[in-house]
Amino acid sequence: MKNDQAGLYIHIPFCLSKCGYCSFYSIKSVNLIPEFINALNIESKFYSNLFKSFNTVYLGGGTPSLLSIGQLETIFKAINKSYKIDPHAEITMEVNPGDVSLEYFQAMRSLGINRLNIGVQSFDDNILRFLGRRHNSAEAVSVINDSRKAGFGQYRD
Ligand code: SF4
Repeated sequence: MKNDQAGLYIHIPFCLSKCGYCSFYSIKSVNLIPEFINALNIESKFYSNLFKSFNTVYLGGGTPSLLSIGQLETIFKAINKSYKIDPHAEITMEVNPGDVSLEYFQAMRSLGINRLNIGVQSFDDNILRFLGRRHNSAEAVSVINDSRKAGFGQYRD
């Protein structure tokens, strides 16, 4: 029996470095990303009969923003081929402030991503260093501004 409506979570299990406080599963072997995407494609097809449609899609991690736009496009092609994604679905992706730019945000939007989770644990540089984060507070502010310029942060009904 197919589930009528469900949320799809895709875990991207790669990080350039490990933050001391984090217990999410991730590895630093970013050279495995292409193989991981192939495996994701195969798994999408494998489970395609289980679900009728998804009304939310969430790319978490790990660090999804380590993926190139081309790699994200491959993932979205695979899930759109295997599943029906509600045209009004909330599609979220986690990003690390150290990885993204205005152009990256614009390309994300063209893929249908309409919600962001930006990994800013603090705006205090000392705390960010203590936590082992790869960005500083100025970069975090700049990235938030870029995300708004790209059209994120416009609340929907
Ligand atoms: S970047 Fe995020 S997922 Fe990766 S180790 Fe740090 S907190 Fe955890």
